[in-house]
Amino acid sequence: MTAFLVATLEPLDQGGISPDVAIVNPRVLTGATAVVIASLLLLLYVYRRRPFILYWIAAWLLFASSMFLTFPSFRDPHIAWMVFGLSQYLAIVGTLAFVVAADAYRHRPRLRRGYGLVMLPIAIWFSLAPVALGIPAVFAPGHVLIAGGLTAAGVAHLLLLRQVRLLGALIVGITLIALAGVNAWMAAGLDSPVDAGMKNALVTTTVVFLVAALGMQLMTFEDTTYELRRTNRRLENAQSDLRELVISDSLTGCRNRRFFDEIIGRELQRHIRYRTPMSLLFIDIDRFKAINDTLGHETGDRILRDVAGFLLRHIREADYVFRWGGDEFLALMTCTEEEALKRGTQLQADFSRSPQLADLPAGVGLSVGVVGVPADTGDVLPLIQTADERMYADKKGRR
Ligand code: GH3
Ligand code: MG
Repeated sequence: MTAFLVATLEPLDQGGISPDVAIVNPRVLTGATAVVIASLLLLLYVYRRRPFILYWIAAWLLFASSMFLTFPSFRDPHIAWMVFGLSQYLAIVGTLAFVVAADAYRHRPRLRRGYGLVMLPIAIWFSLAPVALGIPAVFAPGHVLIAGGLTAAGVAHLLLLRQVRLLGALIVGITLIALAGVNAWMAAGLDSPVDAGMKNALVTTTVVFLVAALGMQLMTFEDTTYELRRTNRRLENAQSDLRELVISDSLTGCRNRRFFDEIIGRELQRHIRYRTPMSLLFIDIDRFKAINDTLGHETGDRILRDVAGFLLRHIREADYVFRWGGDEFLALMTCTEEEALKRGTQLQADFSRSPQLADLPAGVGLSVGVVGVPADTGDVLPLIQTADERMYADKKGRR
């Protein structure tokens, strides 16, 4: 150990090395912390396979390697300086991995070619410059670049807040910027890796590492909750779409008989309890078969859709329009039989004036049968039968 320190630092520290200015132990502590954080994140990755966690892990392992790289002893000072340069370089790459992690949170990270173009000359400088110029060539410049990288990574994490509210991202962003501050201070305030202040800097780094790690755990947890909430919302939407499909007639968009069966009990109860008036309107298209026979089934379908649209427009939203069968519709309305009769007649008159009728065979129109629902009605089906019969009577009468 002393051999390493002497080999590494003797040329810098003209006064010689004091045995208690040990840089190795705090670096090992910091490195070990980074390894523990990486391991915890790896466990998290097993449950939550999101790429950004992998980039975090890579960053922590690079930091750990950077810390451990200076641990062994080197007899040759040039090798020791070169190794220190590489250790700085690994930390710089680590900061880049944090930037990519933030990017990976939102989408597949773009590992730009530019990264390689920038990192290659830096790698060359950090491995060769210390051999020629000694530790100063890589100490302060290294910490400046680490501070820059950490600031970029911190800002990248904070920018995630524009998209999602993640307290974890806030903590990670702030701690990475705090780490940038520590590194800036190392670059400006310390002379060498064995400066007496280094111990404090590394202990501070370790503490901030731990807070950053907490932020990362929290952010992963929040991300899971966020996705669960999103999935829930999607499921709810899918469920409501499915329900809409189940209770609607696919051709006309009117409610179907299944929905009628579902609501009629409740509507009758309301009708009895609150004494609200209720009427049924049975509607059938006259000579619909002629449309199919002369203009084709497709046109028949279009006319069914048009009639449904016409009924939905002319019948209040609070009332119901069901497609009862082929060309038959049933309206359940909150009004007396008298009012229903008036509205039925009005519907026929309005329909006979509708422009769609122009191209259709003569005699196409609407037949309507109306029946009021008495307050003590338990079963509505006989009333529908009556409405159907009255509709036929209306059809016959108009022929
Ligand atoms: P009426 O004047 O007595 O009401 O006779 P109509 O020609 O309207 O014929 P009717 O009501 O007896 O029969 C309805 C026809 O509607 C029978 C069937 O072929 C046709 N039909 C039923 N469902 C559909 C559909 O979804 N699309 C089309 N195009 N035709 C349908
Ligand atoms: Mg018909």
